[in-house]
Amino acid sequence: MVSVAGLSKHFHAQQVLSDVHLSVAAGERVVVCGPSGSGKSTLARCISGLESYASGTVTVNGVVVSPRMRHADLVRANIGMVFQQFNLFPHLSVLENCTLAQRWVRRRSRQEARQTALAYLDKVRLAEKASAYPAQLSGGQQQRVAIARALCLNPSVMLFDEATSALDPEMVKEVLETMILLARDGMTMICITHEMGFARAVADKVAFMDGGRIVQAAPPGEFFGNCADPRIQRFLSKVF
Ligand code: ATP
Ligand code: MG
Repeated sequence: MVSVAGLSKHFHAQQVLSDVHLSVAAGERVVVCGPSGSGKSTLARCISGLESYASGTVTVNGVVVSPRMRHADLVRANIGMVFQQFNLFPHLSVLENCTLAQRWVRRRSRQEARQTALAYLDKVRLAEKASAYPAQLSGGQQQRVAIARALCLNPSVMLFDEATSALDPEMVKEVLETMILLARDGMTMICITHEMGFARAVADKVAFMDGGRIVQAAPPGEFFGNCADPRIQRFLSKVF
């Protein structure tokens, strides 16, 4: 579903991704973790077509992804992305936030977009907030709307970049529960997170990045069980 091969990228003189390889099969859940500045967000942005890269290839759903992708390819690759900052449109209602891209990108009718939006808002347990505005919602609720909005486009893969990092602790749980629900539904997911409990619960594979490289990628049992790499041990001792 997602294939990253030999991906390298630099910002001016600084190498931020070095020969990154990552493959994610349909229905697989991969958690990416690692220290600040290790290149996690840059990798996510390359996978979602927001960032150019110097060498290597990124394919999603059989489409080569880059910022110069044509509209048709963008629709076919269909990557849903959820950021730390929810990026909802403040002047649009929850329902309008969820229907806008469906109307413009998918050319769905008003009625169809509305039905799809309400179905996904129901899934994240926010159907009753459909006519509210983002400012009237808690951070956790706004993030769940952002998830519903991405799901409305029926993505082939969902990418979460520290989706819970900006939330107060009591709201982290409700967003993680929504993400766990998605995982149980079989969604292909790449989750950048420091929530190691989440990683243990849903990940098929945990990848650790440091200095623009994937240092290790292993099933959670192996990753947490007998990890000898001192960089990973240092990281885990900080986040647990
Ligand atoms: P964090 O955990 O803090 O979110 P990260 O692992 O997501 O960190 P990135 O945001 O991918 O790290 O950044 C990797 C490196 O690339 C950092 O050294 C950062 O300063 C640099 N970088 C990221 N974006 C840019 C940019 N637009 N221009 C220049 N340098 C950048
Ligand atoms: Mg980041």
